[in-house]
Parts: sequence; C-alpha cells; structure tokens
Amino acid sequence: MRIGAIEAGGTKFVCGIGNDRGEIAESISFPTGDPQTTLGRVIAYFKEKQADAIGIGSFGPIDIRKDSPTYGYVTTTPKPGWGNFDFLGTLRREFPVPFGWDTDVNAAAFGEATWGAARGLGSCLYYTVGTGVGIGVYSEGKLVHGLIHPEGGHVLTRRHPDDDFAGACPFHGDCLEGMASGPALEKRWQVKGHELPADHPAWEIEAFYLAQSIAGAILLLSPEKVILGGGVMQQAQLYPLIREAVKRNLNGYLNAGAILEQIDDYIVPPGLGQQAGLCGALALGLSALRNQA
Ligand code: ADP
Ligand code: ZN
Repeated sequence: MRIGAIEAGGTKFVCGIGNDRGEIAESISFPTGDPQTTLGRVIAYFKEKQADAIGIGSFGPIDIRKDSPTYGYVTTTPKPGWGNFDFLGTLRREFPVPFGWDTDVNAAAFGEATWGAARGLGSCLYYTVGTGVGIGVYSEGKLVHGLIHPEGGHVLTRRHPDDDFAGACPFHGDCLEGMASGPALEKRWQVKGHELPADHPAWEIEAFYLAQSIAGAILLLSPEKVILGGGVMQQAQLYPLIREAVKRNLNGYLNAGAILEQIDDYIVPPGLGQQAGLCGALALGLSALRNQA
C-alpha cells in the first residue's frame, strides 16, 4: 500500500509517500509559491508514485464541510493567489484516488492519535506554535469540524502583568497567536526567537500565554493528551514552564492524576517529532482509503 501525504504550509510544502504503519519512505520539500506553481510541483511529484490514496493537511482557513459547494477550497487567506482557491479539486482532477482533507493541525492531531504520543487514546489536542498558533482537536475518536473548524489560536488572552506588547494579530491584536507566535516573540523582543537565551524572561511570558490557553482547553474539551509542536517549541525549557503554569491555573480543581501527578506525560512534544505534520496527512490519506473500501 502506498499512501501519498501533503503537508501544505503557508511557508513550505512537504510531499511524501508512506505506508499504513506511519512510515514515510520518501519525501520532498519546497517553498510555498503561488497556487499554480506550487500545485504544479505537487502534481509532478505524485505523477510517478502510484499512490492508492492521498491525504492533505493544509494551512487555512479551509472548507472541510463535505456538503459545501466550496468543499476543498482554501477560503479567506490573505496569502496572494490562495484566497478562494480550489486546492482539493485541482488535485482530484489529476489523481482518481480517495483524498483525505483537513487542517494542518487537525491532521497532526490525527497522526499523533494514530501513531504518536496519543496512540490508543480517543482524544488529544495538537498545538503548533510557529508562524501562527493553531490547535487541532481530536475528540471521541474523531477530528472536530463543526461550523468551520476550530481556530483556537485566535481566542483572546488575559494579559501577563509585566507585558505591554500590543499583540501581533491583524484581526485581534492580543489573541493567543498575537501574543505567542514566533513573529509575536520577535516583535516583542526585537530579536528572533531562537536568538533569545533559555533563561530570558521571554519564555516565562510565552509559557504564561500558552498555559492559559491549555488550561482553558483542558476545562472545555477534557483531552487525554496535550501535544505541543512547531518551531517555537524547540525551546525545550518551555515544557516545564508550561506544565507548572497549567497546574497553577487549574489550582487543583481537576482531580486527575494525569495533571496532578504525571503532567510530564500529559503535556508532551509530538511523538512523531518533526514528521507529525506529514504523518498526519498520511493518516488522513489512509483513513480516506479505508472509508472508501
Ligand atoms: P511554520 O509555522 O511556517 O510551519 P515553524 O513551525 O518552524 O514553521 O515556525 C516558524 C516560527 O518559529 C518562526 O517565527 C521562527 O522564528 C520560530 N522558531 C523557529 N525555530 C525556533 C527556535 N529554535 N526557537 C524559537 N523560535 C523558533
Ligand atoms: Zn487573532
């Protein structure tokens, strides 16, 4: 069985071929350009590959409502050329195979639930903290879609007492993404995130905002695992800071051993590491193949 996987990011695309054990046999990566050029490269890559199904985890917002006339479109993105673009349809016209289609973060959550840190569990959250902040939601054994799809990165925050940064989100200012994305860090401190030393006060503030969101999401959705990925989470000192801040936020209210005693095993990095996104797309493709059968 050969499953195609597409991790469609706003900055770069990764395409690969894998199997039903979550193993990626080969992959390529290239920068995201205009849709025609970018999908031209995707089509050229898969032309020779004989994939039995293809899964796509895409940047958004996207239309994932199966009964919608614009199902498979990238919808309101300001990214030049991509607004109202028929992403899925363009590929479907080339490859007559089952397609899986979901947001990048939902895909990553699904990959982690299938083969990674949330394997065997019926629920998890996947946070990506990078150019933006996104939260994939897997609940009761399914990805959550609802009205559009969850957009947890844009929930408003309560400010850190020492923080007067206005926030970097063009829509909301100080939503989670506005306060805690890579570009927000860079704007607040005037240096790139990876140049800030591990003991810089930036990280306590970063953990404050992420933990606030995580505590709220735990209360709202009751996930069995919280997985934190993306470029900013390469700062490994964030994990203990976030765990402690989540515990302080919840203040003993939730009587769960996972939080009170084993939080190191509850708020974790992706089990699939840097491949969480691509393996997520692979899991979507595999699921599409099985649903068709
Ligand atoms: P994308 O969001 O485009 O998929 P990433 O998840 O790599 O890509 O996120 C890129 C963002 O993460 C940039 O703002 C970058 O400055 C920040 N970043 C990348 N690596 C690090 C690091 N080691 N420490 C802190 N920030 C980082
Ligand atoms: Zn926002």
